[in-house]
Amino acid sequence: MGGRPYGAFGGERTGATPGRVAVRDLGERWGACEPDGSIAVHWALMQLPPALVDLVLVHELTHLTVPAHGTAFRRRMRLVLEDLEELEHRFAQAEPEPWRGAV
Ligand SMILES: [Zn+2]
Repeated sequence: MGGRPYGAFGGERTGATPGRVAVRDLGERWGACEPDGSIAVHWALMQLPPALVDLVLVHELTHLTVPAHGTAFRRRMRLVLEDLEELEHRFAQAEPEPWRGAV
């Protein structure tokens, strides 16, 4: 890992191309995909390492073609992120750290 810029994975790898990626406040959620094919990530996510930002982006991109978190979903994510389990483990540890703004 390392050195991969945001968005280096393309539609050809996830099988989906987002119409738009928005960065905004999503409250308790890190990412969301919209019915119009766009995805959004929480601005606070940008405090995490790029590999973990990728994890959330790929997760939401994958939802554009696979709605549920089943076997097909994980298989598709692993096509893009070979180290999916390790990334998810790192994300679970890093997730409480970012500042999400004043309540
Ligand atoms: Zn999901």
